[in-house]
Amino acid sequence: YAGLQRGARFAVYDIAADRTSRENLALVGEVLDSIREEQFILHYQPKLNLANGKIEGVEALVRWQHPVRGMVPPGDFIPQVESTDLILPLSRWVIEAAIRQQAEWHASGLKLTMAVNLSVTNLYDESLLKDVRALLKAYGLRAESLEFEVTESAIMADPVRALEALRAVRDLGIHLSIDDFGTGYSSLSYLHEIPADIVKIDRSFVTRMNDNEKVGRIVESTIALSHYLNMAVVAEGVSNRRHLDTVAAYGCDAAQGFLIARPMEASAIEDWLKKADWPRPEDTASIGP
Ligand code: C2E
Ligand code: MG
Ligand code: MG
Ligand code: MG
Repeated sequence: YAGLQRGARFAVYDIAADRTSRENLALVGEVLDSIREEQFILHYQPKLNLANGKIEGVEALVRWQHPVRGMVPPGDFIPQVESTDLILPLSRWVIEAAIRQQAEWHASGLKLTMAVNLSVTNLYDESLLKDVRALLKAYGLRAESLEFEVTESAIMADPVRALEALRAVRDLGIHLSIDDFGTGYSSLSYLHEIPADIVKIDRSFVTRMNDNEKVGRIVESTIALSHYLNMAVVAEGVSNRRHLDTVAAYGCDAAQGFLIARPMEASAIEDWLKKADWPRPEDTASIGP
């Protein structure tokens, strides 16, 4: 009887999960129309420089303002879109919108770096880099102010091919970040070959590092290892004061997370930067914005 009950519960759960994935899959067919109808929007999450307490840049994070489903987070459609070629037009939209916003900020004196998340499929789209170069030129931006974030697992899915594509990005001068580092079954034999400028330590490590000594040591030594390999380190998911103090003590270069700020619309970023009241590591608190 208990087994039956358990079975029944699983059945209900499966139906719900299946409906969600079917609904999310149905979204994929709407991507092209939705780009045309301007239903996508970028929010921006600030990145705090831990050495000087300043906001050095932002990461663009896409959202879908769906007429029926409301604000849909990227986790509900990016994985599905990524499994199709529609990730090409969507990423192009994201890149251009981010570059346009960055140019607007630069023109008004806000010199922020801009990070854009890319799928591994985008790396194999040879015309993308050409178009990005043209966009940077058209908007008068230096390649070095742009950053592409690619997840470690995407790189490791086909490291030989990915590394070649990453080198082409690097050759252009665009900075590269390994996103969600630590979750991608990375092999130490590839780490030194990835031509990245930045390692972003996944939120799951930051969340656990103060409760689990070994996780703390992993974060600390990942920071040291990245530095030895000439990469800067960003801690993701810094959501309380202790997270911030710990990663700062470990020598981390920058931090992102809800403690500092949630992702915001462009206009909200501008207001927030003016207030300059984000938390800073102790020894930079006196430096000011
Ligand atoms: P990501 O690139 O690792 O971005 C960080 C995610 O963690 C964001 O979720 C952000 O809102 C969230 N986050 C930041 N700080 C905290 C924190 O302190 N606590 C918690 N709980 N969460 C935090 P979001 O915006 O839902 O994006 C999820 C993922 O979707 C991104 O992970 C990225 O992999 C993907 N994504 C977002 N925008 C794009 C895009 O334009 N293109 C592609 N290909 N992927 C995107
Ligand atoms: Mg990212
Ligand atoms: Mg990440
Ligand atoms: Mg992530």
